[in-house]
Amino acid sequence: MNNKTYTDDVIERMKYQIQNEPDAYLTPNFRAKEFACKMCLKAGVYYNVIKPELVLKLQDVRNILGVPIIITSGCRCKKHNQEIGGASKSFHLSGEAVDVYSPRLAITNIYLVAEKNGFNGIGTYPEEGFVHLDIGNRYSRWTQQTIDGIYRYVYII
Ligand SMILES: [Zn+2]
Repeated sequence: MNNKTYTDDVIERMKYQIQNEPDAYLTPNFRAKEFACKMCLKAGVYYNVIKPELVLKLQDVRNILGVPIIITSGCRCKKHNQEIGGASKSFHLSGEAVDVYSPRLAITNIYLVAEKNGFNGIGTYPEEGFVHLDIGNRYSRWTQQTIDGIYRYVYII
């Protein structure tokens, strides 16, 4: 388990950058805009409420894996979360979740490293090729796959 702590200064600087500096590197490998609502960005709007603690945990995972991690979904505004059929209480809304993959690794590798780095929610989507990671207030492990032609969530715990 990773129990690194960060000073309030680091967290406060990150919060400022997340809101105001889309191009800023929050950590060595992740820029603020990578966590913004993707659909807002496409429409030319910058909306970002990602939590610094999540960004720091993701950097820890990135450091261990040593390969690029691509964020397919960071935070989401309410409107766009609804449009893509996201859960109404999705941790993407509160900036506590990311969906990620690596072009260089199987998702299992990301899953195993994330498991040791203090994420509360971890879900694998083998057919779509990404892993959901969150720091929401609910411990959960799941995988999602098609069984007998039906798209199902399989909860491990
Ligand atoms: Zn949006």
